[in-house]
Amino acid sequence: MSIIQQDISLKAFNTFGIDARAAFYAKINQVDDIYGCLDLAKNKPLFVLGGGSNVLFTDHVDGLTLHMATRGISYTADDKFHYVEACAGEHWHDLVIDTLEHKIGGLENLSLIPGQVGAAPIQNIGAYGVELCDVFHSLTALHIPTLELHKFDLNDCRFGYRSSIFKTTEKGQYIILSVKLALAKSHTPVTSYGDIERKLQEMNVVSPNAYDVSRAVIQIRQSKLPNPAQIGNAGSFFKNPVVPFFKYESLKIKYAEMPSFMLESGDVKIPAGWLIEKAGWKGRRVGNCGVHTKQALVLVNYGEATGREILNLAQTIQNDIHDCFGIKLEMEVNVIG
Ligand SMILES: Cc1cc2nc3c(=O)[nH]c(=O)nc-3n(C[C@H](O)[C@H](O)[C@H](O)COP(=O)(O)OP(=O)(O)OC[C@H]3O[C@@H](n4cnc5c(N)ncnc54)[C@H](O)[C@@H]3O)c2cc1C
Repeated sequence: MSIIQQDISLKAFNTFGIDARAAFYAKINQVDDIYGCLDLAKNKPLFVLGGGSNVLFTDHVDGLTLHMATRGISYTADDKFHYVEACAGEHWHDLVIDTLEHKIGGLENLSLIPGQVGAAPIQNIGAYGVELCDVFHSLTALHIPTLELHKFDLNDCRFGYRSSIFKTTEKGQYIILSVKLALAKSHTPVTSYGDIERKLQEMNVVSPNAYDVSRAVIQIRQSKLPNPAQIGNAGSFFKNPVVPFFKYESLKIKYAEMPSFMLESGDVKIPAGWLIEKAGWKGRRVGNCGVHTKQALVLVNYGEATGREILNLAQTIQNDIHDCFGIKLEMEVNVIG
């Protein structure tokens, strides 16, 4: 049974390390506990917290914070797929390792992404050429206003680049309870993205299996991304902007070296990190926060920053990128407050 606590610091529960306080807080170890908490906290605003690796608290959190900690992973299969279903509170990376230990591939490129299973569909997590939607089967969620359980399949979730209905039209309406993935038995690891092939060569792996790719991804990520346990951050702060082709062409005349990815739609995705670095922000410190020295897409807390300081920095960068390139950067991180 969850007990609702009052005035709890969330500092240890968010990877930015922001010292926000929750007016009311409950750790949810079993789904049934949610109902009791919602009953006790009737009419109070509700915030669902996972691993806190994609949130920026700019104020204290009013109402009730439900901290998901439900655990459990189960496996089934048919001719073509292994199906793995995990509770919302499972750590995403633990799930990846668990599937690999069961000799099931498909999640290896998503190794070491912080956070929990329940949050993975919210922004359709992705890395190294694979997104959650590529392996997603369905999810079960509690509709907060009616307390009804709803099942969502792939189409229902309307996944997009770092997006789903849970981050857009249905934001704040559901508590995701469990996620089911379909991992193909005929799986071939994806190694063509980023530095994976180079890293596998370095590791002397000639015909890589899923486990090898996971090890490669882990090593690459550890060398490139700041560890939140050492320096507060929430990974990529901004999404990579997508611009119409004519806009890309005009920028390319001025910046011939600008990297880009053509999309099937005809639009062009431009790495936000390149824009931020080009505008001179990489490694810059402003008070207690700044832009990471190795990765311009990551904003960092040097220890004592408030959420508002980090948000101000993010907005200053957004304005600057708009002035320099005429592009509006969208935040990937969920600003809470
Ligand atoms: C170092 C670092 C690297 C990262 N790399 C990547 C990457 O490669 N790719 C990528 O996509 N992301 C990346 N991220 C971002 C982050 O790891 C993911 O977005 C992750 O899915 C967030 O999970 P979480 O449990 O921490 O969510 P939280 O930060 O706790 O929550 C995020 C949002 O989801 C909501 N939420 C959480 N759980 C539930 C639930 N059960 N039901 C309903 N709503 C819920 C919250 O209310 C909030 O709005 C990175 C972050 C860090 C710190």
